[in-house]
Amino acid sequence: MDIKNNLLMICHECDALQDVSQIPEENIALCVCCGGRLFKNSKSAIEKPLALIIACVILFIVANSYPIMKLNIMGIERETTLTGSAIIFFEQGRPDLAMVVWFTSVLLPGFSIFALCYILISIYFKKCWRFTRSLLLWVSRLLPWGMMDVFLLAILVALVKLSSLADIVLGLGFIAFVALILCYAAAISSIEMHVLWDSLDKKSLGIRP
Ligand SMILES: [Zn+2]
Repeated sequence: MDIKNNLLMICHECDALQDVSQIPEENIALCVCCGGRLFKNSKSAIEKPLALIIACVILFIVANSYPIMKLNIMGIERETTLTGSAIIFFEQGRPDLAMVVWFTSVLLPGFSIFALCYILISIYFKKCWRFTRSLLLWVSRLLPWGMMDVFLLAILVALVKLSSLADIVLGLGFIAFVALILCYAAAISSIEMHVLWDSLDKKSLGIRP
């Protein structure tokens, strides 16, 4: 048996090293020692996440370009975007909170979405562009820090509390933001990181050994 042609993988649960090169398409590889899920050999391992990430790019641009809500308190109207809400915290003397909100709901998700788009397009066209490897490394590290869903929860709590004090109109940015969270979750769950690394490691990309 030629070990160079085998695809070896370490189980994240028990660290057992095993050969996963013979997993049929659309089947899930399980660890022979602990039964933990290793990966799914999906036929559309690149196309499906790429389509979802392109949708995320569009939704991210819309969510950050349009107001998330418009408040009317006793005739005084004010509307804000995602970045605008962080600026409000900054103006009220809470730069720490402003930074946390902006990093976890705008900067990190934005970086992950655009970087994944770059990586998936690179792999889809069977190229390894200059920054593909380093971006994939950074995305793997930063994914747990994107907390758009927590920010959405905070917005919903604020909406409930403010509903008795002000007239609230949800903006296009809010609708796009909710759609973005759903689309982003679907994209991340469809990405098999080892398939991306495996594709980059092969000299002839996209061709299974
Ligand atoms: Zn295991």
